[in-house]
Amino acid sequence: MLQVFMPEAYKVEYRDVSKPKAAPGTVLIKIERLGICGSDIQVYHGKHKYMKFPLVQGHEAAGTITEIGDGVKDFKVGDAVTVQPQIFCGTCAPCRAGHLNVCRNLKVYGIHTDGMAQEYFQVPAEKVIPLAKGVSFDDGALLEPIAVGVGAMRRCGDLKGKKVCVIGASPIGNFTAQVAQARGAQVLVTDINPKKLAMAKAVGIFAAVDSTNRVLKDIIVETFGADGADVIVDCAGVPASLTSAIQAARPASIVAIVANFKVPVEIEIPLIQRQQIDVLGVMMYLKEDFHTAAKFLAEGKVKTTGIINKYFDIKQFKEAYEYIDANALDVMKVMMTFSK
Ligand SMILES: [Zn+2]
Ligand SMILES: [Zn+2]
Repeated sequence: MLQVFMPEAYKVEYRDVSKPKAAPGTVLIKIERLGICGSDIQVYHGKHKYMKFPLVQGHEAAGTITEIGDGVKDFKVGDAVTVQPQIFCGTCAPCRAGHLNVCRNLKVYGIHTDGMAQEYFQVPAEKVIPLAKGVSFDDGALLEPIAVGVGAMRRCGDLKGKKVCVIGASPIGNFTAQVAQARGAQVLVTDINPKKLAMAKAVGIFAAVDSTNRVLKDIIVETFGADGADVIVDCAGVPASLTSAIQAARPASIVAIVANFKVPVEIEIPLIQRQQIDVLGVMMYLKEDFHTAAKFLAEGKVKTTGIINKYFDIKQFKEAYEYIDANALDVMKVMMTFSK
C-alpha cells in the first residue's frame, strides 16, 4: 500500500509498504479523505514545536473499516468512521483526573507518531468514531477540527445567552463560532480576510466584521453594546490577536486561547488581574467532543459549506503543500483523496 513519508521538512517520499493486519482490539481503516490543517503545515515547514521527523502525517481522516481485530465488538466491516487521533498513557495525574487531552505523555497521530497519510491505518477500536448515516467522508474528515471547537467551547462553560467574540475565521475559528452558536451564544467573528468573513456569514454566524486597521474593543462594543463580550476566543494565534483580546476583555470575562502560537507574546498582566479575567488554555478535545461534533454536524447546527478549497490526490501530497504555501492567506481546508 501507499504511504506518504516525510524524512525531513519540505521532503515528501511515496513509499510502498506492506498493508497491516488488524491486531486484537484494533480495526483496519481504508482511508478515503485526509484533511490538512494548520498544525500539519507547521510540521511540513519543520516549525511545529513538538514534532519529530521522520514522520507519516495525517490526523484528520475519514474512511471505511475493512478488517476487525479479535475482541472488537462495536464495529463491523463497511462502517464509515473517523479517528480521535490522540494517544494517552491513562496513568499520569491529568489522565487520572479525566484530562486525557493534556496527558503528560500525549501523542497525536501525524504529529508525534505516524498518522493517516497512507492507504490503510490500523488503530485501537476505542479511538474510532462512527459517522452517522449520510455523513460524507469530507465531513467525516472535518469532524476533528469541529471537535477542536467543541472542546474549546466546553472549556468556556455555559454559553446560553452569552456574547462570544471569535478572532480568526479560518476553519478552527469558523467551527468554534458555529459551535458557540449551536450552544446558544450570540457570536461575532473577526478576521482581516473578506473571503473568510463571507464564509462565516454564509454558515450563519450572527456578525462577521473586518478587523483590518481597527481596534477589537470598538468592534465588540459596536456589535454587542457597552457590556462587551462574555468570552473572547483567540483562533488567530499571533501576538496582535492575543494582546487585542486582553485589551478588549471586560471585567469578569473569559479569554480562551485556541490557536497554536509560534512565538512568545508580551501581555499586560494588570489588565488580567484587575479585571479578574479567566485566561483559558485550550488543548484539542476529549472523545465526548467528537460525539458532540458528530451530533451538531448531523443536525445541521455546524455546516461545512465552502470550507474545502481544493482536493489533491494522496499521490500529490507535495503539490498540495505547494498550493497551500502559494495561497497561504486564502486557504481554508485542503483535502486529500485516495484514488486507486
Ligand atoms: Zn488538525
Ligand atoms: Zn497520561
